[in-house]
Amino acid sequence: MQERYFQPESLMMTHGYKPELSEGAVKCPIFQTSTFVFKTAEEGKAFFQVAYGKREKEPNEELGLIYSRLNNPDLQILEERLCLWDQAEECAVFESGMSAISTVMLEFLRPGDTLIYSKPVYGGTDHFINKVLPKYGIRGLGFTAGQSSSQILEEVSKRGLSDKVKMVYVETPANPTNALFDLSVCREVADQLSNPDKEVVVCVDNTYMGPLWQHPLKHGVDLIVYSATKYIGGHSDLIAGAVLGNSKHMKRVRTLRTFLGNMAGPWTGWLLMRSLETLKVRMTKQASNAVEVADYLKSHPKVEMVYYLGHLEPGDPQYDIFKKQQTCAGAMLSFDIKGGEKEAFLFLNNLKLMKLAVSLGSTESLAEHPATMTHSDVSEEDRKLLGISDNLVRLSIGVEHHSDIIWDIQQALEKV
Ligand SMILES: *Cc1c(COP(=O)(O)O)cnc(C)c1O
Repeated sequence: MQERYFQPESLMMTHGYKPELSEGAVKCPIFQTSTFVFKTAEEGKAFFQVAYGKREKEPNEELGLIYSRLNNPDLQILEERLCLWDQAEECAVFESGMSAISTVMLEFLRPGDTLIYSKPVYGGTDHFINKVLPKYGIRGLGFTAGQSSSQILEEVSKRGLSDKVKMVYVETPANPTNALFDLSVCREVADQLSNPDKEVVVCVDNTYMGPLWQHPLKHGVDLIVYSATKYIGGHSDLIAGAVLGNSKHMKRVRTLRTFLGNMAGPWTGWLLMRSLETLKVRMTKQASNAVEVADYLKSHPKVEMVYYLGHLEPGDPQYDIFKKQQTCAGAMLSFDIKGGEKEAFLFLNNLKLMKLAVSLGSTESLAEHPATMTHSDVSEEDRKLLGISDNLVRLSIGVEHHSDIIWDIQQALEKV
């Protein structure tokens, strides 16, 4: 019989787990342990040699567990499962999205280097790039959606930074406006600035699309980072992050994780495995709900503008990027309510079913005000440039019945 290729969602319950090693338990237990017993001293020596990079693993060598800062079954199995969605060679799970992002930046950037990044990025990432990295002599230079590779390269060379750039960091779709960045442009910029002595890596924060709707490695990027707090976790009950890429890059990321000690714990790993089992059904339902909500908002007289990828039209360059990079419009949308902050707040304060909270990608629908909440740290000038206005409201659509979400939006808009 031909070997069958199973879809990732078919493997989320079983992949990488051997029941015979855990008393036959159908579910992977929580390995709540700090350390692991070696059968012999020789075995301990052999495991350490590989873990500390003193020799390569033999082709058929089964490596055992050492210590939970290095590896733990709940993390290893989770990492193997996460690799399936993005078809990545390796994955490393972190205790937060921010620790995943900061570890990648600290590993691939050195004092004197420059990082070029898409604007807007997640508030925490923006803070790390503009407030923390400069203390280590690393500087960031932003670019916006729609800039071509030659425009970006010109900005870099005008500042005399062509030799300094070591990383292109991009978030697409951008939060909260859903602006799209072309990953092939990012790849081209990185290639133009690379030379035999200097590799420029491209890293994508794929949190907004989860592992389901956009697979950046297929578009030539080197590393993907996720806040697993969002779609991957999906239940607003944990904080975690992940990095994926090829073995060469991931070896470096994993080694720094070992020594920063910012890996996720076994309990978080276990919760994330639970979450991955329903990743596709959750996200699929969230996306179909978002279509209904976006269409409703579009025709509402108190709504000025809806930012939803499903409303892009042929002829718009953003539409071409959408078609090329994504398989779905996602479940995040934002809209300008007629008026200003006062009207936006009235709407938010009157929601009955949706919760007023930041974060996204979870089973429950959430609403927030980017200008004063998630993006309040962004300078006023940048907020204007990027369209993060006082009347902008961001919605993360959950798995409720879409007619209940729409009812809630309708009654809250009536109060405005
Ligand atoms: C939430 C988020 C992060 C940060 O992740 P944490 O898990 O909160 O540390 C990074 N990027 C994006 C796009 C996010 O939404």
